[in-house]
Amino acid sequence: MLFPDVETLQNRSQRYTYGRRGNPTLDALCTALSELDGGAGSLTAPSGMSAIALAILSVVESGGHILVIDNVYQPTRHFCDTVLRRMGVRTTYYDPLIGSGIADLFEDDTRLVFTEAPGSQTFEMPDIPAIVRAAKERGITVAMDNTWATPLFFRPLDHGVDLAIYAGTKYLGGHSDVMMGTVTANERAWKPLLATHGALGLTSGPDDVYLAHRGLRTMHIRLQHHMRAALRIAAWLEARPEVSRVLHPGLESHPGHAIWKRDFKGSSGLFSIVMKPGPQEAVAAFLDTLALFGLGYSWGGFESLAIPFDCSTYRTATSFEAEGPTIRIHIGLEDPADLEADLDAGLARWREAGGQS
Ligand SMILES: *Cc1c(COP(=O)(O)O)cnc(C)c1O
Repeated sequence: MLFPDVETLQNRSQRYTYGRRGNPTLDALCTALSELDGGAGSLTAPSGMSAIALAILSVVESGGHILVIDNVYQPTRHFCDTVLRRMGVRTTYYDPLIGSGIADLFEDDTRLVFTEAPGSQTFEMPDIPAIVRAAKERGITVAMDNTWATPLFFRPLDHGVDLAIYAGTKYLGGHSDVMMGTVTANERAWKPLLATHGALGLTSGPDDVYLAHRGLRTMHIRLQHHMRAALRIAAWLEARPEVSRVLHPGLESHPGHAIWKRDFKGSSGLFSIVMKPGPQEAVAAFLDTLALFGLGYSWGGFESLAIPFDCSTYRTATSFEAEGPTIRIHIGLEDPADLEADLDAGLARWREAGGQS
């Protein structure tokens, strides 16, 4: 970026001074994101994970303490257990269903409550308003990974959350071709967030920003389809004899359904299922040859995905008891009838390979 004269350069009296510190393309996206969530400002980062790290680093101090939901996105846990630990920051993981009981876990130097709703993989619904009320009483900052709902179905800042974090890689981009993270802050959290973002030198490339902004134009239409199709297929799976439980907060059978209904305006395309007991070979037989469902992690795009998961190995505050193999499903933009036919054939292979029904 160039300056017209020395005086402008020395006074920095123009909006754009250096590539890392913003450009019109990035401003257009950040302004839109901030409006969507009703924030004081938004920033982007090169990935969802870097946005999470940024938000946490904008709050913590060496030697301090943070509380993190036990079913958090697993790489977030990794960040806390490695980088934060090296900085002397202590992390306590809390039961997703703790509600106002979180107050019992506050220590004198607790700086942050980090939450995610519903939690990754197992989809428990935390009571965000109850957690926020307890944190506010003590002046503790609350950050939330809101990737699942997007601002269209839940606006964290309206519920008192200070920092709303998104893996823009998922629904914002929407086409599995962008890596991006975004953070939107309220008035209280904005200045430290901006300062930390600048200090870390985080930025996003113009092509990614352009694609994310274009994705935003259709996000509401795509999410309507993801919601309807995922609810339909979740209900269809719930009625299948091979499936023990469907973990989707939009289903009435879900233990967190009332909280979801109270706080959220909709649901997206991601949920999990617990199968009846069966061997790993039956899981592979089910998933390996699905025609429309890909085997992959990065959800939120146009295509449907299914992956096996096992969260029994890393939780510490709670355990998740599964009566059979667990599978996470993302419902993309395909015709749900085609997806049901694909799953139907996969479930036949599950039975043939020894899976129970
Ligand atoms: C994918 C994901 C992230 C991380 O996003 P990346 O862009 O892959 O780093 C964070 N939180 C949740 C809930 C996610 O699903």
